Amino acid sequence: MSARLADAAAAVRQPSARRRGWRLSEPPPPCAVPLPAGPGIRRIVAPNPGPMTYNGTNSWLIDWEGGVAVIDPGTEDAAHLDAIIAEAGPHLSHILITHTHSDHVAGAASLARRTGAPVAGYALDSQPGLPDWIRLRDGDRIAGLEVVHTPGHSMDHLCFARDDDVLFSGDHVMGWSTSVVPPPPHGDLVAFIDSLRRIRDRDDRLMLSAHGPAILRPRELVQNLLDHRDAREASIAAVLSSKPASLETVLGRAYFNLRPELLTPARSNLLSHLNKLQAEGRAVSDADGWRLRG
Ligand SMILES: [Zn+2]
Repeated sequence: MSARLADAAAAVRQPSARRRGWRLSEPPPPCAVPLPAGPGIRRIVAPNPGPMTYNGTNSWLIDWEGGVAVIDPGTEDAAHLDAIIAEAGPHLSHILITHTHSDHVAGAASLARRTGAPVAGYALDSQPGLPDWIRLRDGDRIAGLEVVHTPGHSMDHLCFARDDDVLFSGDHVMGWSTSVVPPPPHGDLVAFIDSLRRIRDRDDRLMLSAHGPAILRPRELVQNLLDHRDAREASIAAVLSSKPASLETVLGRAYFNLRPELLTPARSNLLSHLNKLQAEGRAVSDADGWRLRG
């Protein structure tokens, strides 16, 4: 690890990350305050904690030769956007969007209006208040970062890679939780797994996600996420192995001990797994529910 990355790794431990198995956790960081996260990188946490957002959305501010870029302005919260503007000063060059879920993009139009900075993402046509935006595709470069298209959690999801092996991974890879992967057309589990393998094989040295603490061992964590999906698929197949079962029955057996607020995203993930098994010719759905083939 270079001295620069060692500095970055040390800095991103503020506030400290803890491990629960392969999952990372951290105490709630303060909102509206720039938190140093390595050379030329700081995060400002939006005030939207919750069961799907953990301690809130991380807005990343990154220095580059053309100014300061922000990845994911987060929610449209005045104090949060004020903090981004105060930290970037007059140098905000780009507003980059990892994907169009509201906890990432809702503040973009206000921030663009207030600063004049252009907004860039994969597909922003449906976003209110954004008459102009820069369309990004895999392999593009913007604000000193390489664009990496990672469909799965959403089909428009982008990661952004800095040349010193730091990857801003959005909701594609997070340390605190697995990602929700809805069935098509909103998401795609097969694409998600392909995108995870692609990110694992980049072998970045530091990963900074849209929720939760820095990931200091990205390859190991991404492999754990892949193993987790394999184990989940095996447990779903095990439930179906004896007799057909309804979606709710599989949910109750393969996802036991779930907190009530996580039932809806778990159902979405389960449907994605079942669709994948069906697409692979390994499961079918009929009047009796879901069952394995052959
Ligand atoms: Zn999110």
